[in-house]
Amino acid sequence: MALHCWTSARYTIPLPEGHRFPIAKYAMLRDAVLASGIVEPSNVHEPERASREALRLVHTDRYIDGVLTGTLTAEEQRRIGLPWSHALVERSFRAVGGTCEAATAALEHGVTMNLAGGTHHAFPDHGEGFCVFNDVAVAIRILQRDGRIRRAAVVDLDVHQGNGTHAIFEGDTSVFTFSMHGGRNYPFHKVAGCLDVELADGTGDDVYLATLAGALPGALSAAEPDLVIYLAGSDPHEGDRLGRLCLTFDGLARRDAMVLDACREVGIPVAITIAGGYGRNISDSVAAHLNTVRVAAAFAR
Ligand SMILES: [Zn+2]
Repeated sequence: MALHCWTSARYTIPLPEGHRFPIAKYAMLRDAVLASGIVEPSNVHEPERASREALRLVHTDRYIDGVLTGTLTAEEQRRIGLPWSHALVERSFRAVGGTCEAATAALEHGVTMNLAGGTHHAFPDHGEGFCVFNDVAVAIRILQRDGRIRRAAVVDLDVHQGNGTHAIFEGDTSVFTFSMHGGRNYPFHKVAGCLDVELADGTGDDVYLATLAGALPGALSAAEPDLVIYLAGSDPHEGDRLGRLCLTFDGLARRDAMVLDACREVGIPVAITIAGGYGRNISDSVAAHLNTVRVAAAFAR
């Protein structure tokens, strides 16, 4: 019952009828977490908006201003895949704030979670793939700037490669980036991280978990991090529209437990973001994210 979560009604915004981004899942997950009793209501927090100064640790002024004022080019906005609105700006700043607050609290509580975030396709000067700002990178940069951590690792198990995160930390030996993803899935131009593991279409629980078990300990020992940020995408699930993998709910929960267990083993705090999930039934994505909350709660203190 000790898990602290960050979520906001502002994570959900109006989108045009029939838009393919499953925006409703954020509200559904928030409701499901509150109804489940897994998290004490007093441990469910509303994040502040990330500050402009925080975003500037990762993003260019031109890009931040373009998002704030709705003056990105039509091509830039199309690449993000979400239409500009004041609500989108609010959501984007709040979701970064949620990851920053969760990451800070993870240093105290061991495991924390933002019920959004993991927007790993955001680069310093542009967004893509439904990602506006890179919350994971901003959170790491803030904690480094404030002297709270020296080194960090990103464990990115969203089914898509974290190209933006990799680009941001390229050449920075203080941040280890590990991504395990569908080799033939988006993004089709991948940006190398410190460790990339590509999976074949149709990969199921056994191969997935064996591959992760083979890669994770080495990644953590090479990284020597003071904090892990874990992107627990539910899009490797067999019911996902975009994932192309075949993990079951049980496989995803075992994946989450494997990550948290490996980190606990070596005493590293973990902040979790939900990242992607595009279930053919949106309730499947919500169920998978809720399972992550359930697993996380068993590791929080
Ligand atoms: Zn994804």
